[in-house]
Amino acid sequence: MSRRYAVIGNPVEHSRSPAIHAQFARQTGIDLEYGRILAPLDGFVEAVERFRDAGGSGLNVTVPFKLDAFAWAAHRSARAAEAGAVNTLRFDDGAAGAWGDNTDGAGLVRDLGERLGFALRGRAVLLLGAGGAARGVVGPLLDAGAARLVVANRSRANAERLVEKFATRAVHPVFVPLDAIEPGFDLIVEASGSGLRDEPVPLADEVFAAATLAYDLFYAAAPTAFVRQARAAGCRRADDGLGMLVEQAAESFFAWHGARPQTEPVYRALREALQAEHAQRPPSR
Ligand code: NDP
Repeated sequence: MSRRYAVIGNPVEHSRSPAIHAQFARQTGIDLEYGRILAPLDGFVEAVERFRDAGGSGLNVTVPFKLDAFAWAAHRSARAAEAGAVNTLRFDDGAAGAWGDNTDGAGLVRDLGERLGFALRGRAVLLLGAGGAARGVVGPLLDAGAARLVVANRSRANAERLVEKFATRAVHPVFVPLDAIEPGFDLIVEASGSGLRDEPVPLADEVFAAATLAYDLFYAAAPTAFVRQARAAGCRRADDGLGMLVEQAAESFFAWHGARPQTEPVYRALREALQAEHAQRPPSR
C-alpha cells in the first residue's frame, strides 16, 4: 500500500505541493499518495491527528499553521527549533514520534546557490518581513555565510522579536526601520507578502540599483510587484520564489524518503504550467 502524505493549510486549494511530490515520486520510483487537507482555523491539531491515526506518514504545513505545527511536534530538527516554525511533519511512531522540520530556509539557500548561482558567503543581505517565512530563512542564510543581515519590517516589535531569537549567533541579524534603509546590500529578500497585495515595498530605487539580486518569496505566473519594482529600479537580477518552493519540497521529500529528487525539471514544468494557466485566464478589466 502506498504511503500517504498531504499539505495542510487554510487556504490550501491552490497549493502546488501535490503536483511537485507526484513528480518527485515518479522520478525516484517511490510509491506514495499526496493530497491536500483544508483544516479549520481552530482545528489544526484535530486534523493532523485524524490524518496520522488513519495511517498518514507525513505532512507539509503551510499558512497559517507553521507555529501550531512547531508547538505540536514532539521532536524538532535544530533548524526548526531555531526558527520556531515547522513546515514538515513526519510520524515515525505515532504521537510520541511526531518530528518537525523547517525546510523553507534550506530551499531558499539552495535555489539561490544552485539555480541562480548566487554565492552568499561574505554578502550583505536585506530581509523584508518578520513573519513565519522570514523566521525560517534567517538561520540558513547565516549558515551559508552571509556577513551582514538586516531585517526591516512594518512592525518594529515583530522584527525585534525575530532578531532576538538569533542574538547569540556570532553573526546575528539587526533591525533597521524601513525608512532608514540605505544602499549597500548584495541581496534583497522580500518576505512581507507584497506579492499577495500586488504592492511595491517602501524602498528607494537606489537600494535596488546597488543590489545584485532581488528575490521575492512569493511567486506568480507573471512577474510579481516586487520583481517588477526591482527591475524598474535597475537591480541586476530579480526572481520569484517558485524555485524555493520546489527546493523546500525536495528537502521535505528527503526528510521523508531519504532520496533526493532532481528539482530543475520539476521547476521548469511548474513554471510552464503557471504560464499556461495565466495565458488561459480572461483579461482582467
Ligand atoms: P506571515 O503572515 O507569517 O508574515 C507576514 C509578514 O508580512 C510580516 O512581516 C508582516 O509584517 C508583513 N505584512 C503583512 N501585511 C503587510 C502590509 N500590509 N504591509 C507591510 N507588511 C505587511 O507570512 P509568511 O511569512 O508565511 O509569508 C510571507 C511571504 O512568503 C508570502 O508571500 C508567502 O507566499 C511567501 N512564502 C513563500 C514560500 C516559498 O516556498 N516560495 C514559503 C513560505 C512563504 P508585520 O510584522 O508588521 O505584521
